[in-house]
Amino acid sequence: MIFLKTKDEIELLRQSNLLVGRTLAEVAKLVKPGVTTKELDKVAEEYIRDHGAIPTFKGFPNPNGSPFPASICTSVNEQVVHGIPGDVVLKDGDIVSVDCGTYMNGFCGDSAYTFCVGEVDEDVRKLLKVTKEALYIGIRNAVHGKRLGDIGYAIQNHCESNSYGVVREFVGHGIGKEMHEDPQVPNYGKRGYGTMLKEGMCIAIEPMITLGNRAIVMERDGWTVRTKDRKCAAHFEHTVAIGSGDADILSTFEFIEEVLGDKAI
Ligand code: MG
Ligand code: MG
Repeated sequence: MIFLKTKDEIELLRQSNLLVGRTLAEVAKLVKPGVTTKELDKVAEEYIRDHGAIPTFKGFPNPNGSPFPASICTSVNEQVVHGIPGDVVLKDGDIVSVDCGTYMNGFCGDSAYTFCVGEVDEDVRKLLKVTKEALYIGIRNAVHGKRLGDIGYAIQNHCESNSYGVVREFVGHGIGKEMHEDPQVPNYGKRGYGTMLKEGMCIAIEPMITLGNRAIVMERDGWTVRTKDRKCAAHFEHTVAIGSGDADILSTFEFIEEVLGDKAI
């Protein structure tokens, strides 16, 4: 069941998502060679709680194993999504996707950004750039009267025309009082197919794109998803509200990119 949100509810969603954007900017300040992903998690959790919110990911249930133990997902290099922060030390040339969720005033925020650690190879930088472009191309199709397939097609077409893989097994989602609501929002699809988009629908769009083959495997921890061929993957995510015109992007990369300056992809 898809819940359409009122204007007031969308403003509450915006507050939760702005906090995600600010939290990711705090993380951005620390992403450099020598930092552990656990340190990134600690800063994110403190920042979220200091601003009166709850990190939605912490304790998130896993039907096949233990609940998620941290406040952010940190997915390094060949890890696609749901990487668990730990003692892994980031090194020059790595990339790390940081996914963050908050819950505040009854509504969720959800957004992700893939960061470069030091100097990253040009082919991997291009993967990040194209994935981020694909997110915004998807958002351009998140318009009242279009269909979910239009979003998926736009993302898939942009990434596959650059010879990248589009992960199928994990998808975007509706968002509101729950982090994961209907509908599912695939990063692939057919134009003109799927659920019709309506004003008041709020969805998280999150392309997960691979440098090589799109096949993925789940690590034994029951959370971490990585590419089978161990080539890099990128992940960018925004929460958006469908309006009468262009989608209203409720999360933001503005604070992150202020921190990154001319190093932003
Ligand atoms: Mg997310
Ligand atoms: Mg999400």
